[in-house]
Amino acid sequence: VAIEVVAETGSTNADLLARAAQLTEPLLLVAENQTAGRGRAGRSWLSSSEGSLTFSLAWKFDGGPQALSGLPLAVGVALGDVLGQLGVQVQLKWPNDVLKDGDKLAGILIETQAAQGGGTWAIIGIGLNLIMPDEMEARLGRGAAGAPWLARMERDVLVAALLDGLAEALRLFARHGFGAFCARWNLRHAWQGETVTIIDNGTVLHEGLAAGVDDTGRLLLDTLDGRIALLAGDVSLRVK
Ligand code: ATP
Repeated sequence: VAIEVVAETGSTNADLLARAAQLTEPLLLVAENQTAGRGRAGRSWLSSSEGSLTFSLAWKFDGGPQALSGLPLAVGVALGDVLGQLGVQVQLKWPNDVLKDGDKLAGILIETQAAQGGGTWAIIGIGLNLIMPDEMEARLGRGAAGAPWLARMERDVLVAALLDGLAEALRLFARHGFGAFCARWNLRHAWQGETVTIIDNGTVLHEGLAAGVDDTGRLLLDTLDGRIALLAGDVSLRVK
């Protein structure tokens, strides 16, 4: 995997999407300062140069994008394992968040692009909060967490540990799909057995007990009408 570090950019995901057609090998792009970080569905991801780690990894998979629907969850498992080894215990919130004590510590955004000659480039963007500056805390309100312990580490060592864990997980995902991660995801599930609602643009679509994910990464929800399985799409989960 090639590694590039830039002092500042708008979005590392946008940069790698723009470059995907020219890539011949996996590339990790780290931004010391990201000024227009993206979340899902046009939402934004905030970061600061002192207190955040923001990077994207371009990784090529065989097959089309539909095979990658469980990838954000597999990446969550990989982050959970690495962070746990570094002394920070985290939980996972479906579909794409990493929580510490119920607050969002890291976000994962995966975008895809068809590769020339077949296959799909996945651009795996990760934003990890190390220290939350007051100004960011004020903008986000409750619900965001930092990990000051990780901020004490050499940044490059932290990136190397994350890259190592991610690369191993991506190879496993390419061979076995999300099935190889499902049990570990469920062990880290933040809201297992809790009452949650699924919302789409402010509208509550479903309410039920969160029962983990299946081996394709769908959220299982036990509702009054029985068990349903939800595709990530663009719905959001809220704990009641
Ligand atoms: P939700 O879980 O709120 O439905 P989501 O998981 O779809 O949202 P993403 O698109 O993954 O959210 O992330 C963007 C959202 O995360 C923003 O709308 C904002 O609320 C929140 N956010 C942005 N920056 C940070 C940050 N540095 N730390 C924690 N949360 C953040």
